[in-house]
This record gives sequence, structure tokens and C-alpha cells, in this order.
Amino acid sequence: MSSWVERREELQAIARETDKACRLVCFPFALGVAFTFGALILIPKTWTYDMAFWVVPHEARHVRQYRWFGLGIHPWVGLIPFLLTYFLLPIPLLLAWPRYRLELDACFHSWVARAAYRENPATPSQLQQIALSSAARVSGGSYLYSVPAPWARWGYTRKVDEAYRIGRVRLLASYRGTPRGY
Ligand SMILES: [Zn+2]
Repeated sequence: MSSWVERREELQAIARETDKACRLVCFPFALGVAFTFGALILIPKTWTYDMAFWVVPHEARHVRQYRWFGLGIHPWVGLIPFLLTYFLLPIPLLLAWPRYRLELDACFHSWVARAAYRENPATPSQLQQIALSSAARVSGGSYLYSVPAPWARWGYTRKVDEAYRIGRVRLLASYRGTPRGY
């Protein structure tokens, strides 16, 4: 299957709807994850277009968050404050509330995108499943056990309905001739 890189411009345009500074970068190693560093969204070269497509709204939201930490000036201005807050506060393990909260915000943004996806919009129960697996990830080892699992499950699932409603409004708006990139 072909790499997402062949359609980089298209994906980059979607990312830039969230923050105009987003830049998609091809990560040469076969890492199992994509990640965001300042304005750069690093996606493994081995990923297909579909795999990349679903992480772009999430990662683009992180770029937006870097910008917030940079007082709205630019994502790079927020780099150090973002990373310190994300990894260390108030303590790195089990009470890393900002890490949990920033991930939830990025996930929320991607659920909205899934509910607004014209080809095959997600249903509330599909979003609920996605939320549960995201909650398991964010409270697990790959996110350095940000918060206890029951806390993450509660916090994630209670936001699903709101994301669905916003996505639905966006989807209907797209049928009225104001299409979005996703
Ligand atoms: Zn994330």
C-alpha cells in the first residue's frame, strides 16, 4: 500500500484548518505512533493515507495547544512551557492532569472530525468505543500513566455526546455547501 506522503499536501491542508502553522513531516522510522513537536507533526513514512488521515485532526490540535502555551503568538513560542507542563506537572505519573487534559482535548477534536466525516460519519456508539480505547491508552504505559484508568474512562466517555453533536452540526453544514476538509 502506498505511503501517506504521496498525499501530503492534502493532509496538510486539513491540519491547517486547525492551525495554520501545521507542517507534516515524514518520519523515516517505523514507529507505531505519530507525534507533534511544536508546529511539526511527525508521521511514520510506512503509514498509509487512511492511517495518517485519522491522526491529523488529533495532532493538529496539539499544534494549536503549543500555540496557546505560546500566548497565541506561534506554536514554537509555546514549545518549552508546553513540554514542561505536559510531562512534569503536577507530578509525572498518575497525577499528570495537564497531560491527560491536553490529550482529551486533542481526542475530542478528532471525534468531532469523525462525526463530521462525510464518507462514513461515526455514530455515538462508535465514538464511545473509540473514547474507551483512547482512555485506556492515555492512562497506560505509552502515556506514562498520566491518570488512573477509571478517571480517564469517566472523563473521556462523558465528552462523547458533545463531540457527536458538534460533529453532526458540522456535517450538516457541509451538505449546505460549506465543505470542510474532513
Ligand atoms: Zn495526543
